[in-house]
Amino acid sequence: MIPLVDLKLQYQLHKAEIDAAMQEAAANAQYILGPNVKALEADLAAYCDCKRGVGVGNCTDGLHLALRALRIGPGDEVITSPFTFVATTEAIGIVGATPVFVDIDPATFNMDPSLIEAAITPRTRVILPVHLYGQPCDMDPIMAIARKHGLRVVEDCAQAIGATYHGRKVGSFGDIGCLSFFPSKNLGCFGDGGMVVTNDEELYGRVEMLRRHGGRVKYHHEEIGLNSRLDELQGAILRVKFRYLEEWTEARRRHAVRYNELLAGTPNLPLPSEIADVRAVYHQYTVRVKDRKAIQATLAEAGVSSFVYYPVPLHLQEVHADRGYERGAFGYAEAAADEVLSLPMFPEMTEEQQQKVARAVRAASHGQ
Ligand SMILES: *Cc1c(COP(=O)(O)O)cnc(C)c1O
Repeated sequence: MIPLVDLKLQYQLHKAEIDAAMQEAAANAQYILGPNVKALEADLAAYCDCKRGVGVGNCTDGLHLALRALRIGPGDEVITSPFTFVATTEAIGIVGATPVFVDIDPATFNMDPSLIEAAITPRTRVILPVHLYGQPCDMDPIMAIARKHGLRVVEDCAQAIGATYHGRKVGSFGDIGCLSFFPSKNLGCFGDGGMVVTNDEELYGRVEMLRRHGGRVKYHHEEIGLNSRLDELQGAILRVKFRYLEEWTEARRRHAVRYNELLAGTPNLPLPSEIADVRAVYHQYTVRVKDRKAIQATLAEAGVSSFVYYPVPLHLQEVHADRGYERGAFGYAEAAADEVLSLPMFPEMTEEQQQKVARAVRAASHGQ
């Protein structure tokens, strides 16, 4: 079976380096906010074209802390995409604010900037774009609208580390960017982990304070905070893996180009597309299909994994039932939820594996 990602293979390929880094961190015994986390914060901030990085427990906490740092709370509205992982709106809900959705651009699966202004109310405080599947959102119009209306911008970069828009890294456009190191993300650790990046010193200070019980000085607490720090052991692992991130990202992009070539012209199979002047990082390679259940079953028989990210748009989730959205509210997000199918995509994929996937996808689509 060709897996969606092959984390066992990735570990085997880099085992010596990773094991050495873990052992060194274990022996060093500075387990909380130790030297690996500090170094990784500096390295990843620079990588993301930002001045500051704060290692946190996971990206969900990162989004939560970003909103807390911006003093977003009850009564405030945050405009975001209905076609994303629930963590995006969970963070909005945790601070007591209200998610307000705008539909996606069906070509990119990302929020359609031309719909944002109509969703702004006197309560709107933040726009929260999600760079889904590693495809950068169209940041110029989003930032222009934010400036015009005095709104803050938090970027959900969980799937898009290293992606660029007009030559600049995602996460550096808004006030704060949030990264995830969940194992299957493009830069994954061996558990949960995340980072907040920013160019704003004040916001950096607030996130840094809030991630460790709301205090800048030990045992002196200014605000209710969180215990949400990136583990030193994860920091050690991530510093090794970070050395390979550019190589892995370029491999993902080559695989996407090859998939595009191998699958071109298949009937009823729209392929992923990029907007102009971006570097997408292909966290997922996601196509659209009509009879998804049947195609997935045929692919499984052929030994090819596939997965649906995400089958239910957030405006139709039970958790957001209080918002009163009904089916039909965001037609493009709903169609995407019905049709998307992600194919195996990981840096270590071989040409033979891709050919096998493409053959199976073509055969399954022609059978429709
Ligand atoms: C994975 C993911 C998150 C949450 O990241 P965690 O580190 O698992 O908390 C948030 N948003 C998106 C779009 C994601 O894919």
